[in-house]
Amino acid sequence: MAYSIMDACIGCTACSRVCPVAAIAGERNALHKINPARCIECGACGRVCPKTAVRDDLGAEVAKLLPRSLWKKPVFDLSRCISCAGCAEKCPVSCLTMGKGEPGGLEAYPALSAPEKCVSCGYCAFYCPMDCIVIAAPAASLGEAK
Ligand code: SF4
Ligand code: SF4
Ligand code: SF4
Repeated sequence: MAYSIMDACIGCTACSRVCPVAAIAGERNALHKINPARCIECGACGRVCPKTAVRDDLGAEVAKLLPRSLWKKPVFDLSRCISCAGCAEKCPVSCLTMGKGEPGGLEAYPALSAPEKCVSCGYCAFYCPMDCIVIAAPAASLGEAK
């Protein structure tokens, strides 16, 4: 179920600018609308809305404004990684890259190369066949995401 925008929307455009899949349309200063066929339920729109006008995928709860520095990020357990690159290929904002080799012997390993672009969607974790990735709050991810 996709996210949705309520009448409290003031048309500031913050949501449409942060959406990684261009699912939000609307004129400035007018009510914005989410295309449910495109929405991947990342919640980024709710985390930037100054009017708390975005409902989450459950419909009953409202997504809350949250500074981008506090958004969750992927943390990798490379001991299980098989270098398939599935995480990097599925990331909708291309903020993961496959590095070259590492001490554990992998041919390539994933890293969060552009953390400022991550929208905390969890696609990388969802598509990892080895359960190498958890999406965690910044304090837990700082050491892992270098
Ligand atoms: S939840 Fe994510 S994908 Fe869906 S409209 Fe909001 S920003 Fe776009
Ligand atoms: S959570 Fe993973 S897939 Fe989603 S934007 Fe961040 S790195 Fe990309
Ligand atoms: S999807 Fe999982 S196993 Fe594949 S490269 Fe990414 S972390 Fe490694």
